[in-house]
Amino acid sequence: MAISSTNPATGEIIKSFDALGPDEVDARIGLAAATFATYRATSFAQRSAWMQAAADLLDAEQRDIALVMTTEMGKTLKSAIGEAAKCAKGMRFYAEHAEGYLADEALPDPAAVGATGAFRRYQPLGVVLAVMPWNFPLWQVVRFAAPALMAGNVGLLKHASNVPQCALYLEDLFRRAGFPESCFQTLLIGASQVESVLRDPRVAAATVTGSEPAGQSVASICGQEIKKTVLELGGSDAFIVMPTADVELAAEIAVTARCQNNGQSCIAAKRFIVHEAVYDRFRLEFVKRMSALKVGDPTDEGTDVGPLATESGRSDVAELVADAVGHGASVLCGGRAIDGPGWFYEPTVISDITPGMRIYLEEAFGPVASLYKVADLDSAIELANATSFGLGSNAWTGDEAEQERFMAELEAGAVFINGMTTSYAELPFGGIKRSGYGRELSDLGIREFCNIKTVWVR
Ligand code: NAP
Repeated sequence: MAISSTNPATGEIIKSFDALGPDEVDARIGLAAATFATYRATSFAQRSAWMQAAADLLDAEQRDIALVMTTEMGKTLKSAIGEAAKCAKGMRFYAEHAEGYLADEALPDPAAVGATGAFRRYQPLGVVLAVMPWNFPLWQVVRFAAPALMAGNVGLLKHASNVPQCALYLEDLFRRAGFPESCFQTLLIGASQVESVLRDPRVAAATVTGSEPAGQSVASICGQEIKKTVLELGGSDAFIVMPTADVELAAEIAVTARCQNNGQSCIAAKRFIVHEAVYDRFRLEFVKRMSALKVGDPTDEGTDVGPLATESGRSDVAELVADAVGHGASVLCGGRAIDGPGWFYEPTVISDITPGMRIYLEEAFGPVASLYKVADLDSAIELANATSFGLGSNAWTGDEAEQERFMAELEAGAVFINGMTTSYAELPFGGIKRSGYGRELSDLGIREFCNIKTVWVR
């Protein structure tokens, strides 16, 4: 894939970039490794001041960088502004909490292990490569970079090839905030160049947010090299509505949960599983609200849904819907690519989905909701778990016993009851099954790229 900014609302190529050659990549890895040797010894107070400065810069430049995001990948300007604000907040969160999260943890009774003192110490691993997707072009990176840099690691970013200006902005942001030169570098490289970076002995670990093939490739190379990985891959989250739910509110939130970021979020609700007692009411409200969404220019304040980020992404969504319809699914609204320039697709709801259809198993990475009717709680849980993914999940019910069943039995890295799945710096984020492994955010996220050193003293 060429490294270039192409406006998905118009199809116009705005700027193209040459990929770095092998010598340039080698030099940058060398700089990163040299920087780590001294950066790891900087104090939390110093790193925290740099991170706060990065957050201040980002806040001051919020609208400018939001426009870059919108122009490169099509998210609405208002959601891009929200993303920039969330990134600054996440940076401040780790600036404030990193030292506490990584403080030595003493064993209360060291005599039990024959020692006078025993504790865990968290130390940085070194140079970490982050392979990142375009859908949240700042937030995906920041939720890696903020904890990694605060822990004393240094970062190399291989961002998605369609968001190079966001990638370069982030490198520049951390440098201008005062972090040592080469603490955080963007490598403008294609996917085929990732292997040589992973195999370089100066690179200690890697994190990938993206598709299954990307995760499989990075994890298998790192497996051969015995290097730590974190994988944040796809999802096909269930959104379950039970009879005691506030159905109107559930339908309203369902629209946001499906269509936020133009339907291109790993934790978007994709499969809506509704109890038969409230199915008709939910369907009516949901379809009405999905049909009312305004699709159009993402820089326009009144737009709800912008274009899909790439032409191939829109084709993938259109093919999934065509396959379902070809096998008997019903289209309750939408169901078509919108003619004209740009890669727009109508907000869509389909029902009468059967296991033979691709959309039953595959992730729909666009504004397409699959609607299912179930007879009872057991069937809702069974259907929710009938997927290879296990990222987030949503369950709407006022019944405490049902809530407990969902918490216990939904196979997912997160269960949100009476609300939509969202990432918070305070809470761990990650999946199980083919959605990946490891956790980002919270105390767990910052420890992923640490050597958890056991210290025993007598
Ligand atoms: P993608 O094709 O896997 O791209 C993501 C990143 O991986 C890009 O930087 C891409 O580079 C790189 N890449 C692709 N193939 C690679 C390979 N074989 N080896 C090394 N790097 C490779 O993913 P996408 O389609 O753009 O993003 C959508 C997917 O990401 C969805 O499945 C979504 O659910 C998932 N996602 C997951 C999370 C999460 O936190 N779990 C968050 C957001 C998105 P190029 O751009 O150069 O190809």
